Amino acid sequence: MKRRTFFSNAAKAILLAANPVSGMREALGIPSGSAGPVTLFLAGDIMTGRGIDQALPHPSDPRLYEPYVKTALDYVALAERAHGPIPRPVDFSYIWGDALQELRRVAPHLRIVNLETSVTKSDDYWRGKGINYRMHPANAPCLAAASIDCCTLANNHILDWGYAGLKETVRTLQKIHVRTAGAGGNLEKAEAPAILTLGARRRVLVFGFGAATSGIPHDWAAAVDRPGVNLLNDFSGATVDRIAAKVRAIKRQGDVVVASIHWGNNWGYKIPAQERAFAHGLIDKAGIDVIHGHSSHHPKGIEVYRHRPIIYGCGDFINDYEGVGGYEDFRSDLVLMYFVTLDPSAGTLVHLEMTPLQIKRLRLNRTSKGDAAWLRDMLTREGKALGTHVRLTADNTLTLEPLGKV
Ligand SMILES: [Zn+2]
Repeated sequence: MKRRTFFSNAAKAILLAANPVSGMREALGIPSGSAGPVTLFLAGDIMTGRGIDQALPHPSDPRLYEPYVKTALDYVALAERAHGPIPRPVDFSYIWGDALQELRRVAPHLRIVNLETSVTKSDDYWRGKGINYRMHPANAPCLAAASIDCCTLANNHILDWGYAGLKETVRTLQKIHVRTAGAGGNLEKAEAPAILTLGARRRVLVFGFGAATSGIPHDWAAAVDRPGVNLLNDFSGATVDRIAAKVRAIKRQGDVVVASIHWGNNWGYKIPAQERAFAHGLIDKAGIDVIHGHSSHHPKGIEVYRHRPIIYGCGDFINDYEGVGGYEDFRSDLVLMYFVTLDPSAGTLVHLEMTPLQIKRLRLNRTSKGDAAWLRDMLTREGKALGTHVRLTADNTLTLEPLGKV
């Protein structure tokens, strides 16, 4: 039986044209240099603070202000107890492990992640928060090791070490040529998208948003005269309209616009109706082409709405939670690289592929076939109500497909 796909005929032609071995560019009448599909690598939380920071070449003072754990070194010890020794100090590329080979294979045009830590030497921890993540600025090259292009910062850890921590984070990322969105020195800067260019004309705009439902304190909201996060007031139609006005002022024909949103609980698959309506509203009214959602520590169901992908929760990608018990059923050790390929002329999805990896010894590793199948089954189960299911390919990657006969 014929397999249903998200591909439109135009998208198929573009894919064909982009394939250098197809020899079909001229046959299709597409001049060389014309706009082909754009592939984005998206991942959820990159938490390179605390235990990860301790394993890298330039660790911060390990002292913590958590209720139970008083040194970041304990998180390294937990990981080692779970899976064996970690060769500290690790080099800057170590944490990415097998993800680097996968990035080389797919060669995405841009790499966009949520940076779930501040990058700072500040000792001014946010009082009463309980968990404060920081990575030493001298460890920032670990982000460059995976050629990350853009970090969204509108999350519940960016101000863990105060305004000085936010300022130093932005400055440090600028120095290593990583663009930022979603937090900054004032409201205007926090709201401004990262504008990523591909060649002379093509652009990808990344807007960063955070919601209080992810644990962002209300007083972290950026204001006209106060640094902070681009915090969503709510998920209402009025908020969609405000965002639509911002996007309209900057979006040009052919731009791909990503809304990167930190929202919702750390655990649980449920997608609140208001989040879904908000995502639809951003696509319907605000010209958003990709919803890059995160905050949950594990991947959640994926929807394709009006040919645009809504990843409600990417799940974590890099963290130091290895060996920390409590939510084993969610398998948060299993993470996903999302490769979203779009037709920039229409902003529509061509295909979405995911590579499963497993966190072990503070490093990303290829999964077993069984673990990849577990992710397929989970995404298919959670995608049912959203109209998607996932297929596991022979090379152990996952492909999103619409529900239907296969
Ligand atoms: Zn978070």
